[in-house]
Amino acid sequence: MSRVLTAVAWPYANGPRHIGHVSGFGVPSDVFSRYMRMAGHDVLMVSGTDEHGTPIQVQADAEGVSPRELVDRYNRVIVEDLHGLGLTYDLFTRTTTGNHYNVVQELFQGLYDNGYIIAKTTLGARSPSTGRTLPDRYIEGTCPICGYDSARGDQCDNCGNQLDPDQLINPRSKINGETPEFVETEHFFLDLPAFAEQLNAWLDTRDGWRPNVLKFSRNLIDDLQPRAITRDLEWGVPIPLEGWKNRDDKRIYVWFDAVIGYLSASIEWARRSGEPEAWRKWWQDPEAEGYYFMGKDNIVFHSVIWPSILLGYSGPKPQALGALSLPTEVVSSEYLTMEGKKFSSSRRVVIYVRDFLERYDADALRYFIAVAGPESNDTDFTWSEFRRRNNDELVAGWGNLVNRSISMAAKNFGEIPAAGELTAEDETLLAAVRAGFDSVGQLLGKHRQKAAITEAMRVVGEVNKYFSDQAPWKLKEDKARMGTVLHVALQAVQDCNTLLTPFLPHAAQRIHELLGGTGVHAPMPEIREVEDLDNGVTYPVLTGDYTVGTKWEHVAIAPGTKLEAPTPVFKKLDESIVEEELARLQS
Ligand SMILES: [Zn+2]
Repeated sequence: MSRVLTAVAWPYANGPRHIGHVSGFGVPSDVFSRYMRMAGHDVLMVSGTDEHGTPIQVQADAEGVSPRELVDRYNRVIVEDLHGLGLTYDLFTRTTTGNHYNVVQELFQGLYDNGYIIAKTTLGARSPSTGRTLPDRYIEGTCPICGYDSARGDQCDNCGNQLDPDQLINPRSKINGETPEFVETEHFFLDLPAFAEQLNAWLDTRDGWRPNVLKFSRNLIDDLQPRAITRDLEWGVPIPLEGWKNRDDKRIYVWFDAVIGYLSASIEWARRSGEPEAWRKWWQDPEAEGYYFMGKDNIVFHSVIWPSILLGYSGPKPQALGALSLPTEVVSSEYLTMEGKKFSSSRRVVIYVRDFLERYDADALRYFIAVAGPESNDTDFTWSEFRRRNNDELVAGWGNLVNRSISMAAKNFGEIPAAGELTAEDETLLAAVRAGFDSVGQLLGKHRQKAAITEAMRVVGEVNKYFSDQAPWKLKEDKARMGTVLHVALQAVQDCNTLLTPFLPHAAQRIHELLGGTGVHAPMPEIREVEDLDNGVTYPVLTGDYTVGTKWEHVAIAPGTKLEAPTPVFKKLDESIVEEELARLQS
């Protein structure tokens, strides 16, 4: 057994999340964590909402609310959506907690003391008419990289590149349209080039990574520049240094504070568990492993910037929290598109998680993401393909096997029948299903979830074939053989259900109960209202007890267990849903 940190990308709290977001970070990290726990590992899965930065401030201004009100709203929406998907976070928190502020400031101070944060004079924007500093969000101009004409002072929303206000072409103030003047101002920079050698040496040891992630990361290291980690902004974590901590016009930049969330959430989890030092078991034990899940637009933060922060805090001078471990693997997914287009809330090419879960089951989406999601290529979500996979694979393949084996046993025996002597076919099938624990498990451990679920569904296909070949419905005259065939089939169903549990936890719990099982088979997260450990505000977190639940192993079924006629576990989707959903997209 080993300790496994599952570090999941932090969804940005400026709106509800759509299914493209959760296909990149949410579902794959949960499938992995569920499997690792079932296989006996001690998993700590953490994340939260990312709540600082200019886009939050801009949107709050537009709505006439405070940034705090805006993030309170979307933190709750996102927590509820992730709960609906059954994502088993040990702690899903947020970046506006007192705990997070303390940890971010500790890391900033530690990096500063170790000489990796340098003050630099840069050009900041000022309003010529008032003489006041213009925060980044009030400056707009043309992006020097892609030519988009409404890029903001810190970021271009069109190409996603980070910018500095003085890089904008034709900069203008959003307040009164005047051209800002640029005057010298001081900001803090993270000395990324100082880590280039260590980062390259570390990447040399990372053979198991997806090749595109490794190659992309190496290219970034070839071209490292010091990076600004403070901004002209009022919404964010204050700079902890003397002379700066009371300034209300300068804040730590959002990308610097958000990646530290993995550590601060682990510390918050430990503090809430009553064992405040317990986080160290995942962050300082060299045997512990850390897997980071995200979409490909976030690779730079996880394979370059976050490791640099960890290296710079860990030495040369020891800091209060001690040396911190680098990621074992950065598991990046590609993009999901929808009906051939990029997801876009403004262009209404979108389906939010919440709307999806109102109309369809969470496991239907989890299945689609696992089998057809953007694991290593960009993939496309279409409603017709979603319906086809749901109906042909989940309903007709797996659901039908569950339904017909249990209903036939319930009708003819009222319980799980005992097996008589097994034929070669019976033995072959049982062995093939049990081999699935190795084959599916190995793929899951290597982040090859698409291959893993395909393998599990291949095993389901073997069981379906066995059932058709043995045709227990024709054995009314030979009840003993009928009982044996149904016993073998139900044993295979139970084992297949275990193989599919990381992917389809809601259905797996129901099938466990249909087979006469009691108790928790697949644990689920809960939403808990908690008080901030440092400042008394309350907020919802996702957490749960995941030590219960079925293990990743064959368990013999018990003859004599009562069975009742089942109701279908998966819903068949009518052809009309495709047109309805496409009409919603266009409205
Ligand atoms: Zn751009």
